[in-house]
Amino acid sequence: MKKKDIDWGNIPFDYMVTDYRYVSMYEDGKWDDGVLTGDATIKLSECAGVLQYAQEVFEGLKAYETVDGKIVTVRPDLNAERIYNSAIRLEMPPFPKERFIDAVEQVVRANAAWVPPYGSGATLYIRPFEFGFDSVIGVKPSDVYQFRMFTTPVGPYFKGRVRPIAVKITDYDRAAPHGTGGIKAALNYAMSLKAIMEAHREGYSENFYLDPATRTYIQETGGANIIFITKDHKFVTPKSDSILPSVTRRSLEVVAKDYMGMEVEERPVALAEVPDFVEVGVCGTAAVIAPVGEIHDHGNVIHVPSGMDEIGPVLKEMRETLTGIQMGTIKAPEGWIHEVKVED
Ligand SMILES: *Cc1c(COP(=O)(O)O)cnc(C)c1O
Repeated sequence: MKKKDIDWGNIPFDYMVTDYRYVSMYEDGKWDDGVLTGDATIKLSECAGVLQYAQEVFEGLKAYETVDGKIVTVRPDLNAERIYNSAIRLEMPPFPKERFIDAVEQVVRANAAWVPPYGSGATLYIRPFEFGFDSVIGVKPSDVYQFRMFTTPVGPYFKGRVRPIAVKITDYDRAAPHGTGGIKAALNYAMSLKAIMEAHREGYSENFYLDPATRTYIQETGGANIIFITKDHKFVTPKSDSILPSVTRRSLEVVAKDYMGMEVEERPVALAEVPDFVEVGVCGTAAVIAPVGEIHDHGNVIHVPSGMDEIGPVLKEMRETLTGIQMGTIKAPEGWIHEVKVED
């Protein structure tokens, strides 16, 4: 299979139209069979539920070309399950999990020429989403839904070496107690845009959100979970119902435990104990791990011991292990790798 003629080493993290996307409609109480289409546009009512009341949930995962030339996705079952749960929270008919995996395979196979070559640092990003399609003006769930999945090649999050970032403790809240913080929905992102743009204007890469009820515990950033390494080599990550269950974070827990012999703790993490950690990072599909070197809290700066020059040794090993698993250079745990078979 011939790859597209693209300068793979230099593509940005932007949307690029690829050849095919998968579309399935839910109507009259059932999902149709789903098709691949070349049409990258959607025509819908001006009064569609997604436009009026933000009824939308989404996912993000990647396809990789491995060292031995296979195309794989890693743990797509977790994305299938997460969007299923997200849909239920917004009163949307969930897309069947086995069909989600089938759609991932179809859409990656159809766009195999867009999967960046091994070693380029680039990957094929897959964006599944579901939204309210028909007209709603009185507040209620839609009757008709579209489930769609497109792909777009994206460059590496870090061009060149991995650089620590500076973050701030934000005064905005990301999620209400008992709200929608635990699902992957566009509505959680719309309200974070002002917070992230303000942080950027002040020179920070990300916001650390606190728990909205007491503002004493660390939650996550706008789009990534937070991980900590203790002095005595434990992996700690905040636990809360309003944190989105990151696939990357859950995979790093397995890496920490089974590949690095570390103890793993999921528990509330108070802002007050953050100065005790020796390494801090944020994790998600896009960056895998971005190390945090400084945490700015209203004039008080927490200098993470690993500093602003380089990623700390523990997070470095963790990052290299997970990317090795993704790229096929390190043996994956049972059931993680879904190969997408492509004809030459
Ligand atoms: C998508 C997302 C993450 C990261 O999840 P991954 O599955 O690791 O990509 C973390 N936090 C929020 C709020 C997210 O939307």
